[in-house]
Parts: sequence; structure tokens; C-alpha cells
Amino acid sequence: MSKIKILPEILSNKIAAGEVVERPASVVKELVENSLDADSSRIMIEVEKGGRSLIRVSDNGIGMNRDDALLAPERYATSKIHKDEDLFAIHTLGFRGEALPSIAAVSKFRLVTRNETSHAGTEIIVEGGTLKKVSEIGAPQGTMVTVQQLFFNTPARRKFLKTVITEMGHIADAVSSTALGWPGVHFRLTHNNRPVKNWPASDDPVDRIIDVLGRDIKDDLLRIESSGDGLSVAGWLTSPRVSRSTSRGIYVYVNGRYVRDRVIQHALLEGYHGRLVRGQYPMAVLFIRVPFDQVDVNVHPTKHQVRFARQKKVHDTVAGVVRDRLVFSNPPGWTLKKTPELGLSGEQPGVAETTPRFRTPEQPTLSQHPATEDRYPEPLFKGDHGFAPAGSQTALWSKKKFSDLRVIGQFHDTYILCESVDGLILIDQHAAHERIYFERLKKRPFNSRTTAQKLLIPETFDLGYREGKILEKLIPDLNQLGLEIQPFGGDTFVVKSVPTLLKDRAIKPLVMEMVEKMAQIGFAPGLEKAVDACLILMACHGAIRANQRLSDKEIKGLLEQLDRCDHPSNCPHGRPTWIRWRFKDLEKLFKRIV
Ligand code: ADP
Ligand code: MG
Repeated sequence: MSKIKILPEILSNKIAAGEVVERPASVVKELVENSLDADSSRIMIEVEKGGRSLIRVSDNGIGMNRDDALLAPERYATSKIHKDEDLFAIHTLGFRGEALPSIAAVSKFRLVTRNETSHAGTEIIVEGGTLKKVSEIGAPQGTMVTVQQLFFNTPARRKFLKTVITEMGHIADAVSSTALGWPGVHFRLTHNNRPVKNWPASDDPVDRIIDVLGRDIKDDLLRIESSGDGLSVAGWLTSPRVSRSTSRGIYVYVNGRYVRDRVIQHALLEGYHGRLVRGQYPMAVLFIRVPFDQVDVNVHPTKHQVRFARQKKVHDTVAGVVRDRLVFSNPPGWTLKKTPELGLSGEQPGVAETTPRFRTPEQPTLSQHPATEDRYPEPLFKGDHGFAPAGSQTALWSKKKFSDLRVIGQFHDTYILCESVDGLILIDQHAAHERIYFERLKKRPFNSRTTAQKLLIPETFDLGYREGKILEKLIPDLNQLGLEIQPFGGDTFVVKSVPTLLKDRAIKPLVMEMVEKMAQIGFAPGLEKAVDACLILMACHGAIRANQRLSDKEIKGLLEQLDRCDHPSNCPHGRPTWIRWRFKDLEKLFKRIV
């Protein structure tokens, strides 16, 4: 008897579901794509319990007649391709004919649909891949798919579902990324019967970009457009002033399909080369159009990846368009070298405009010279063992020492040069100030009356669904730290007061970075690690920056404050606050000694 058997259809559908239906958000994505393929102008997405108990997508598209409706949940049933050649010229979002059967295999599935020519609608119920009911039903033109109890018959998958908020975050992301590419379609998303997003159709894609990515980037959007030789690249970029610490603000559409494509992302970043601080990403919405036969979308079941026939051409075109646009835009703010006299108290007007919002200190790099390379880090004073001085001995030695150094001056408005007994000390002013602020914030238990400053005009800002949910959880901790934020309905928040050291700083970038950090470290309220992460970010945003001129008095003040720190030798991120070129090494370099 043969060992090899053809799998029963229900089982093969379940296997396909493993690839196509990873989580509730994948169901939403597939159903919404079907609605778009059906020429809908309005798509409603209703979700309950993060998609665990219900996902319903209804549209006003072309709908189906009874025969098609019966075929739709069958494996490999598709109206979108018919013959071999079609597979190499795909112009719809779907084509594999496996979304509906996969979804229906792992849920309680109901399809109600009617097309223009049918008098009555058709209702089809499938449970765990088994057809349960087919009937006539009154229905408007269009299609409504209801998916209940997702993964009810695949407990292993169900176990992998994350919290409602996490799953809902993924759903909101899926809807956002699709909606950004289809501004002419009205999208509405509700969760547990409460509206989450409502994006009316608009002729102007910028309206949708603002709806989805936030109003505050409006003035920083740069339009790009280029076409020729069968390739068109159009869209919007943010000026380098607006950056993010992840690539999540980059949305790429190839022939209307949202894709996560490394080639295009690489090209985009190449276009920004030299304009963003390392580790920062721009935001961008890029629409790339190529002839359908020049892009293979059948690379992965989730259809999130594509392969271009002329990959290099696409890459170089995108990089070139982006680069050219940035050259012709106003010089990015952060390249301007403005040198206001700034106090160390946190009174730093205008800094947000002249420095990158997300600048983080870069590790001071020494010249490549071997004489110094291997000496890093060296103790600053006898007994101080470089960064992270742990022992009490070290603490003793480092006390009152920075202020004893003779200040030579400021180098590149970024490093403070000092003379020590045995060498030349470079202090990274940002890293040092960060350390000072961090310890100050950490030591002083926050009492909002003394250390927080009420804003005369409370500042509001919008976040995405996922970010908003994380921030809501973070609010009590932030309030403790003197950053008083309140929900203002939907994903809008209002800042009521800020710690004094953040006075006059842009708050949204700080909040965004905190939220991104929380998403990264898997946040639980009240957790010390999370609070510390917030303090580090506050210190970073509040601290004086690189490229900032300091007066002698301010330098003196900084050194004195550094002396009062428990761990003066490294910033809270762990980078050194100072390095030293030893006198002896300099002598060697000048060949005075061998
Ligand atoms: P695919 O989208 O790859 O063709 P699906 O399993 O997602 O496969 O859908 C199967 C077929 O069902 C589609 O080809 C389409 O003809 C029909 N269909 C699915 N959803 C809709 C909808 N919302 N409106 C009209 N037809 C639909
Ligand atoms: Mg489909």
C-alpha cells in the first residue's frame, strides 16, 4: 500500500491557513483586499475582542451571484486569474484563490453577498471548512463577510494570539497601511462597537496621509514625482527634520499593493544619506507603478513581498528621486549651526527647530590612530576605571574632579576640551548633561507641584491606535515623573504639564520615542525598567545638544554638576561621557619620544 496520500481538502485548507491567516490582522487584510478588488468605495471593518470573537468586513462593491458565492470559499477558486499568462500580469490584490477557504477552514464563517443582476442575496455559512448552510437572503449590493471564533478548531494557533490590544494594534496597522494606498475609498474601523478610525474618501492623497500619519507632519511633507521608461515613482517624504527611530513610518505601494520591500527601503534611505542621524528613519508614502508583467507578486502567500524584473532600475530611480528632492528642499534645520547662549537649567528656546528632534549622542570616535585606539577607555584620574565606575574607591576618586580640570574650550560646539595632569580630556557635552539630568530625575521623587511646569497652552497631539493604547497605559507612570498627559478622545492626547527640564522642548517626539521604546521592551505599567527607559529619554530630550555653543560659565556649571553624579563616566545609554588623549601618547605621535 502506498504511504503517500493526497490530503483531504479540509486539511489542506488548514495548512494553507497556517500561512495566510497568521493572526486576526491577516483576516482583515485579506478581506479588505477582496473588497478593494471588488471596486468598493466604502469598506467597514468591525472587530470584537481584537478579532478573537468577531471580524466583519462589509463593502459596497460588485458583489457575487449565487454560483460565485458558492465557489468563493472553495480552494483555488478565483475570478481574478484564468490562465498561465494571467499569473504574470496580476492587476488585482488577490489572485491565489486561497484567502476565503483558508479563513473558512479555521473559523465560523458567514458570507452574505449580492451583485447588481441578482434579485436576492446569497448567504453561505461554513464552519471549520464544512459547508453548513446556503440560503437566499435580502441584501444590499456588495459583500459582507463575518468571521467568528477565529482558530476555534486550531487550539495551537489560538494559544499564540496575543492580548486584545496587541492584536487590535496589528489590525489597525493593517487597515492603516491599506487605507494609505487607497485614499479614494472610505474606510471605517470599529472595535467593540466603538469607532477607532473613520477615514472618508478624498481626492487628495495628502488628506489620507494626514489622517493616518498625523496632522503634525503636514508642513514637512515633500512631494516627489518621476515617471518614464515604464516606471513611475510618486509620493510624499518627510523632510529630515521629522524622523523616527523605526522604519514603521515608511509605506511603499507597488501597483497599489502595500509591500515591505527591502530594495525600496534601501533606496529610500540611500536618498536620505547624510541627512538623518544614524539609526533614524524618515516617514514616506511611496507609490511605485510598473507594468504588471514586470513585477512578480507571487513570492509569498501573504503577498507582502514582490520581485522586480528590473530591480536595479527601480532602486536607483527611487534613490535618485528622493535625493534630488531633498537637495532642492530647504536645507534641513539640523544642519544649520545656530549658537544660542543657552543655560543648563532647561531654558533653551528654539532648540527644537535647530537640532534634530531625535538626536541621540553618538559615541565619540577617536581618530584611527593606533596610539589612541587601544587606550579607550582609560581612567580619567588615577583610580577611576573609565566608564561605569562601580567600586566605592572609584566614586571617591571621581568626586570633585571634573571641576578641577582646566577648561581649554569647546570643540565643534560639541566637546568640552580640558587639561588634566596627564592628558587632554574630551567631554561629550550631551552625554554628560544626559547623565546629570538622568540622575537628577531619578533621585528626586517627583512632586508635580515643585518640578513640573504647567503649560499655559496645553499641547495636543495625535497618535496611531497602537501608540495611543501603549501611551494610555504609560500615563500614570509619566504623571509620576511630572509629565502630565491626558487622553482627549480617540487617539488624541493633551499635555498639561512637563518636567521643568523639558520646558520648551517638543513633546510629541519624546512621547513617540517613549512609546516605541515601550513597544520594544514589552511594557508593563510601573515596571522599573520602563520608568527608567522613560527617564533616559527625558534626560536625552532635555539635555543640551551637540552643536550647541556653551559659555564658560555654563561649561563650569556642567563640570560641577557632573561631579555630583554617582556615575559620571557614562551616559544613561552606557556611552562614555569623556575620553582622554594621554600626554605621553601625544608626545609619541609628535615623535618627541619613542
Ligand atoms: P482571491 O482574492 O485570491 O481571488 P479569495 O479566496 O480571497 O481569492 O476570494 C475568492 C473569490 O471570491 C475572489 O476571486 C472574488 O471573485 C470573490 N470575492 C471574495 N470577496 C469578495 C468581495 N468582497 N466582493 C466580491 N467578490 C468577492
Ligand atoms: Mg482575496
